[in-house]
Amino acid sequence: MPEAKLKVILLRHTPNPEETVAMAAKLCYSPSDITSLKDKIEARDQKAFVEKLVKMGHMSPIEHATFTFAVEGISRACSHQLVRHRLASYSQQSQRYVSEEAGFDYIIPPSVRDDKEMKKLFVSFMDEAQNAYNNMVKKLNDKGIKGESANQDARFILPNAAETKIMVTMNARELLHFFHQRCCNRAQWEIRQMAEEMLKLVKKAAPTLFYKAGPGCLHTPCPEGDYSCGKIKEVRAKYGFPPSRA
Ligand SMILES: Cc1cc2nc3c(=O)[nH]c(=O)nc-3n(C[C@H](O)[C@H](O)[C@H](O)COP(=O)(O)OP(=O)(O)OC[C@H]3O[C@@H](n4cnc5c(N)ncnc54)[C@H](O)[C@@H]3O)c2cc1C
Repeated sequence: MPEAKLKVILLRHTPNPEETVAMAAKLCYSPSDITSLKDKIEARDQKAFVEKLVKMGHMSPIEHATFTFAVEGISRACSHQLVRHRLASYSQQSQRYVSEEAGFDYIIPPSVRDDKEMKKLFVSFMDEAQNAYNNMVKKLNDKGIKGESANQDARFILPNAAETKIMVTMNARELLHFFHQRCCNRAQWEIRQMAEEMLKLVKKAAPTLFYKAGPGCLHTPCPEGDYSCGKIKEVRAKYGFPPSRA
């Protein structure tokens, strides 16, 4: 089976996410009724207000903007890390309802892909896993165990490298937290690549909400302490910030 490639699509988001957040925040401080507040918010650019909100860390209004992504071409190892983020909704392609007999796709880590000998070993193990899976399904079928009942037991053979597809919905506050952890150089390369793609997409949809978004070290001392990658200047440059924190 061919090696699967990462694909991240921003499927949907709250319409006018920054206006929605501004409305939620203004409601906290305003004596106005909802209709006049809505009219006022829609009549003016909310950029400066939302920026101030993000800067001062008034985070609960930010929860009203949600973003739904479709992700393909990640490993089950990566999706396992993703679903550890609990303040989110997930729908993942099932290895129970979807048979892998036609051949499962898989992800090859770059360190393996770039080494001829290791890649050969890796691909040959994937082929063995495929054969074992197909044999297992056949033997289960022979015993009268078919369809999803066979798939659900044969899938125990499938490796962490097996490709998966997943839909994920997070609100903007959780996304900021997710980027904080997963855009960090200490996060594994695969989930970091995925998080970076997600960040690019939300920055286009809601640039002010996400203007500070990225790894934890961008605006506070590196949360990794002794494990810090020590590349703060490079990281800040990558996210478009000057070399040192103001
Ligand atoms: C570099 C790295 C290495 C890691 N290594 C390991 C590892 O070796 N083993 C391992 O098991 N995990 C590991 N993890 C996963 C990590 O422990 C977290 O499970 C994961 O990053 C999700 O973070 P979270 O709980 O902050 O986020 P979310 O689940 O997204 O929650 C967001 C925030 O909501 C609050 N919250 C959510 N649920 C609760 C709750 N039940 N109670 C109180 N507050 C809550 C917390 O403030 C939390 O930070 C690693 C993560 C990273 C980034």
